[in-house]
Amino acid sequence: MMTIDRIINKVKENDPKADTTLLRLAYEFASKAHEGQKRMNGEPYIQHSLHTAYTLAQIKADLNTIIAGVLHDVPEDTDYTLEDVEKNFGKEIASLVEGITKLSKVKYRGIDRYNESLRKMFLAMAKDLRVILIKFADRLHNLRTLDALSHNKQLRIARETLEIYAPIAGLLGIWRLKWQMEDLCFKYLHPDEYKELEYEYEVEKKIERTQYIQKVKNTLGKRLKAENIEYKIQGRFKHLYSIYQKMQRKDRKFDEIHDVFALRVIVPTIADCYKSLGIIHSIWKPKSSRIKDYIATPKPNGYRSLHTTVFGPEGKLTEFQIRTPEMHEEALYGIAAHWYYKQKGSSEPATQQPKWVQEILKIQKEAENSQDFIKKVKFDLFQDRIFVFTPRGDVLDLPEGSTPVDFAYAIHTEIGNKASGALVNNKMASLDQKLLNGDMVEIIVDKNRKGPNRDWLKFVKTRRAREKIKQASKSYSLENIKKLIPGIK
Ligand code: MN
Repeated sequence: MMTIDRIINKVKENDPKADTTLLRLAYEFASKAHEGQKRMNGEPYIQHSLHTAYTLAQIKADLNTIIAGVLHDVPEDTDYTLEDVEKNFGKEIASLVEGITKLSKVKYRGIDRYNESLRKMFLAMAKDLRVILIKFADRLHNLRTLDALSHNKQLRIARETLEIYAPIAGLLGIWRLKWQMEDLCFKYLHPDEYKELEYEYEVEKKIERTQYIQKVKNTLGKRLKAENIEYKIQGRFKHLYSIYQKMQRKDRKFDEIHDVFALRVIVPTIADCYKSLGIIHSIWKPKSSRIKDYIATPKPNGYRSLHTTVFGPEGKLTEFQIRTPEMHEEALYGIAAHWYYKQKGSSEPATQQPKWVQEILKIQKEAENSQDFIKKVKFDLFQDRIFVFTPRGDVLDLPEGSTPVDFAYAIHTEIGNKASGALVNNKMASLDQKLLNGDMVEIIVDKNRKGPNRDWLKFVKTRRAREKIKQASKSYSLENIKKLIPGIK
């Protein structure tokens, strides 16, 4: 059970001098407002508000954001209004709560819903990025309590999170939340694949991985010590969804995903980062194409680190990320960490928007409607993936370059096996046509069709389609043999 004291302790961990009086008042106010209300899983409603606030404290959001987290569902779900919130907690907190309330009202379905949600997210971000932080924390707790909902709702919420929330969390550099959200969604959207990977990663390979990482740590640790560099080396937890995506994208099996061995080296200064890189390269031979200097050239979201992949012990490819503690915080908490460091440095609130947010605002002013707006927004946040729609408005995410056959198998094996044509945006399309973001796809099924065409293997993009086609053509050809040679079993 979550308590207000746990949240207060977390806040004090980050800032021992924080005045948490208002936070406690917010808790009392929200408790009264939500009194008697229960979540679908039977818990008192206030638990949801508290969990949301706790996540915000974990990512080091500022105090007003945490307070708004406690209050975020008050105007929407109780008799108290936004005015009540403002009267008691002031303009800033009320405007954060208002932002969340607005975000939750999306009325469309299908493509329009998707565009509208995205547009709202971007606008809320442009106004005050902290609204999005609250929304992420809110969504994370909703995902954690998804079991209480119907299967259809689970799928809808999980998909929406993968399509919209997770990519934006990535864009903002809040990796911690992005990964947590993605793994939860993955579990609901692809339960079999999730279980299989979880088993391979957490059970089968765990001991091997732990031993290997220990070996690397020992070797590297000795050398860093000899150079008088203070260090922390962590074996990196790889989240399952990113392994799954990589397997899909590269059409590889689990064992072939090479950076499953991943370590992070944290050293005091930037100079130490480069020194450590040199030391790593002097111990193990680097794979030259995989050296990235995101310190000299940070990623657009501000991410900084040195990356390298080396042929480690036993020649196994091993990935390193090298960074300072500050870069590390930023990498985990993204934009939230910027606030934290700003707060520490000065008393002024951090109102500066990242450049891309300013750009989005500009595009918003020029765009005619939400569809136009979405088109104009550079979709580098959805790199490598496209979202396509069923005629009913459900969304599937597929790797870039996917075709109607990939789509068909993503829906159901039998639809894939019996696909004979496709309509893309209501126009006839060939089965190998490359699908684009936002396409609406309908598969034409021929019930009498014997099975998939092996030629499809030449153009399908997803592993699932590839495997199903191979499987089906095996069993169908066996059926043919049976027909030709009566009596065979
Ligand atoms: Mn909520």
